[in-house]
Amino acid sequence: MKYKHRLTALTALACASALTACSGQSGSQAGTSAGDPVQREFFAMDTYMTLTAYGDEAEAALEKAQTEVEKLESEWSVTNESSEIYQMNHSQGSPVTLSDDTADIVSFALEMAKETEGDLDPTIYPVLAAWGFTTDENRIPSQEELDGLLANVGYERVELDGNTVRLSEGMEFDLGAVGKGYAGDRLAELLKEEGVTSALLDLGGNIQAIGERPGGGDWRLGIRSPFDGGEGVLGMLLASDCAVVTSGNYERYFVGEDGKEYGHIIDPDTGYPVDNGLASVTIIADEGKKGDALSTSMFVKGLDEATEYWQEHQDFEMILVTQDGQIYLTEGVEDQFTLSTDFGNMDIHVIKGDEQ
Ligand code: ADP
Ligand code: MG
Repeated sequence: MKYKHRLTALTALACASALTACSGQSGSQAGTSAGDPVQREFFAMDTYMTLTAYGDEAEAALEKAQTEVEKLESEWSVTNESSEIYQMNHSQGSPVTLSDDTADIVSFALEMAKETEGDLDPTIYPVLAAWGFTTDENRIPSQEELDGLLANVGYERVELDGNTVRLSEGMEFDLGAVGKGYAGDRLAELLKEEGVTSALLDLGGNIQAIGERPGGGDWRLGIRSPFDGGEGVLGMLLASDCAVVTSGNYERYFVGEDGKEYGHIIDPDTGYPVDNGLASVTIIADEGKKGDALSTSMFVKGLDEATEYWQEHQDFEMILVTQDGQIYLTEGVEDQFTLSTDFGNMDIHVIKGDEQ
């Protein structure tokens, strides 16, 4: 099953790249022949989203897409008192009944938490709040405070049975690490149902590519550099019909009184923001939710453990960038990724599967 998955992902990328080679530099002409893009920009799930689609159905489909994201946000917000996640977090130990959507994503988050041995832990929220990431009033909590909060962290203690969930008192659940990815999958499904065959969705850095670019061939996706506050483009990735999700500590971080930078991805083992030498992790996967869960958890794992995890699974591709300027990418994207000239001096190392 896993092996089959891997082949699908690699074949999609490989075929798409052959098409790009054929279509060469004709990108803009191809775009014109398929009509002008329709674009919709809005703020949701705490980030800016830009949805771009082509074809006659694009306009109406994108309007529905925005409505869908807003619906999911209202179900999942940790701060909106009428959201299902809020009710779950304030149930003081009693069971709560979830809608199908929410039960589905809670179940997926728990599954990925198990799969990553708790490096993804959707119950980390109270620790995140202690560092001030939920209010922007950042501070460094004492070890004693962190120890107290960590006692209530542990995905394995969340009881989910069908649509009924029960959290023990003091626990809080948050979909910050997987929600946008799941939303990307949902929107891709919706747009396809509406007849859209070519679209690029940017959900705050989570990219969902639907089909190929207009006229055929891979989308050219800019991968942001984790350096200098994420301003530059590290390189270009060719991909179609997949999700490309990046996590890093360069977007949401603060500088503590001790002069150190603290980012918003927390290592559930220590309660401290991840500080393992990685600057960013980009995951290329067939599903956005998987890419999102993996981008966060591989960032927590760090270079060596993420490499091991990939070698055991091989049903996704990844690009890891270290703080000292090294790039590690899995063999399936070696030919799909090109460094920008600004970063041309960075070293690229290829991660191979065990059988090689
Ligand atoms: P972004 O949301 O910036 O694209 P991520 O997908 O990596 O980045 O999600 C980071 C968010 O996930 C944090 O803001 C926080 O809400 C939550 N989070 C932080 N650390 C973890 C963790 N170890 N496991 C699960 N969720 C986490
Ligand atoms: Mg994520």
